[in-house]
Amino acid sequence: MKFEDLNLLKNIQQALIEEGYDSPTPIQEQAIPIILQDNDIVGCAQTGTGKTAAFAIPILNQLHRIVGSAKKVKYIRTLVVTPTRELALQIGESFETYGKYTNVRQLTIFGGVNQVSQTDQLKRGVDVLIATPGRLLDLHKQGYINLDHLHHLVLDEADQMLDMGFINDVKKIVKLTPDNRQTLLFSATMPMAIRELADTFLTNPKYVSVTPVSSTAERVKQQIYFVDKGDKRKLLYHLIRNENLSNVLVFTRTKHGADNAVRALKKNGIEAGAIHGDKSQNARVRMLDAFKNKEISVLVATDIAARGIDIENLPYVINFDLPNVPETYVHRIGRTGRAGNEGTAISFCSRDELPYLKDIEKLIRLKIKVIDGHPYPYAEGEAAEKPQGQKPDRRNSNKGNSTGKSNSRKSEASKKNKKRWY
Ligand code: AMP
Repeated sequence: MKFEDLNLLKNIQQALIEEGYDSPTPIQEQAIPIILQDNDIVGCAQTGTGKTAAFAIPILNQLHRIVGSAKKVKYIRTLVVTPTRELALQIGESFETYGKYTNVRQLTIFGGVNQVSQTDQLKRGVDVLIATPGRLLDLHKQGYINLDHLHHLVLDEADQMLDMGFINDVKKIVKLTPDNRQTLLFSATMPMAIRELADTFLTNPKYVSVTPVSSTAERVKQQIYFVDKGDKRKLLYHLIRNENLSNVLVFTRTKHGADNAVRALKKNGIEAGAIHGDKSQNARVRMLDAFKNKEISVLVATDIAARGIDIENLPYVINFDLPNVPETYVHRIGRTGRAGNEGTAISFCSRDELPYLKDIEKLIRLKIKVIDGHPYPYAEGEAAEKPQGQKPDRRNSNKGNSTGKSNSRKSEASKKNKKRWY
């Protein structure tokens, strides 16, 4: 199928041609006709599948006719609610790109920055508003936002909004919109709470789905390194230096862990930067740009900050910590091996993360290849925090110590004092 077959307006087709888009991705092929026919839709698709364009293109197609000339009074006709600032910005850019030959005016709002420029633009009027939930409700309460004329409500990354505790905000937002709206809900996974949300707020929705979350990208080489927790930074440096890796996206579980990893890399002369929730919006954008422009070769991110990062041709993803939610692993490694390119996803697994590894392998229905022979394997004989029911194989290596006594050179007292550095 080609974009010409989708009955889109010429102004939108032209923008797509200029973007180099030739044919729609599977989610676009399924979703665009449904949205153009004014149906509600539930789309199960991850970032990287082209889902933003899957809703932005048909919405722009409809709005172009409605908004008329650029001089006409503007009402908010489309509201896109998304969990993070990064995603909001990315969606805003997509509307801008695909809608450049339309009169549709759009605005992206999110918290953590001064509201004045946002409220100024709201006063001038916009057709499409892209927002994170908190700032949206805040500005609505202050009277800057009127959703009475809304045509489309898009709930993007609904599962992530659930994980981030936004579900009640989302419900409040839906109630501020007219009943006859068209509702589009996108989510990478479909937990019960999201199905319930869809049942409550959508009218006879059509369901579309691409690459279920349990399927990891075929082109991604997956590897696991068993490593002591305290050696992870050394292993990271070792891999980056010895394997000469660049353009590496590293995931840590915590903000503190991200900062520490960056510090350790920089100390060893590797250009690295972190993005996480404690960094200002400007700092995050700067860091992301530096990574895209290859000014830094390693970007360390927490999951939440990484949502919505769109970097083409990312060759390496390193899971410095294994996520405790197995779907997160799939999201993370989905950042490499995109658009037909090869990718490698490397995961560090310390003893206490073995249960996470087990859950991940169960979800992806695959045993991840173990890389032996690196300089920082589990310390021989160190008392294992062995998860219950785990077989004594390489995946919880405790070999060479049948007594269970520790061979570690550290005293028990110093071990107890050992700070968690992440
Ligand atoms: P998304 O899943 O919305 O995050 O999109 C992932 C990436 O795919 C973005 O960089 C888009 O610019 C790109 N993209 C979306 N649709 C197409 C298409 N039909 N052809 C080529 N690239 C696309």
